Amino acid sequence: MKIWNEPGRGRKGCPECGIYVGVRTMKCQCGFSWTIRKASEKNEDGVQMDGKPIRKGFSLVHAPPGLCPHDLGSIETTAVRDWLVKLVRHHETKKELIKPYAAKYYARLFYNVFSDEYFQLSDKIDTMAKEVGLHVD
Ligand SMILES: [Zn+2]
Repeated sequence: MKIWNEPGRGRKGCPECGIYVGVRTMKCQCGFSWTIRKASEKNEDGVQMDGKPIRKGFSLVHAPPGLCPHDLGSIETTAVRDWLVKLVRHHETKKELIKPYAAKYYARLFYNVFSDEYFQLSDKIDTMAKEVGLHVD
């Protein structure tokens, strides 16, 4: 299995160990599985595992499989807000709700998880999570 320490085209980051693998990889070397994670948390009745209701017919996305549908131009607050709004809309059309974590996961496709930019970006995502419509528990 090919692994990388940096994000790049055709790669996705593992939310468990932070390394990058090919987008088609379904299981990371650390054991994290994209398929299992998605299936177990998908629900049709709008009820989450812990009983909290979410929007009916929508499933929660923690670690989105594949590439980010929108480019993140910079980590300027306005650029980040625009990008998050587009991401939320993109997933809404697929009847999916995304959590701040999923947005950060996408962010890793643009910035290295250990970089200063990622750190600031992650902070901005948390700050504007509710405002842009990310699913906050
Ligand atoms: Zn991993």
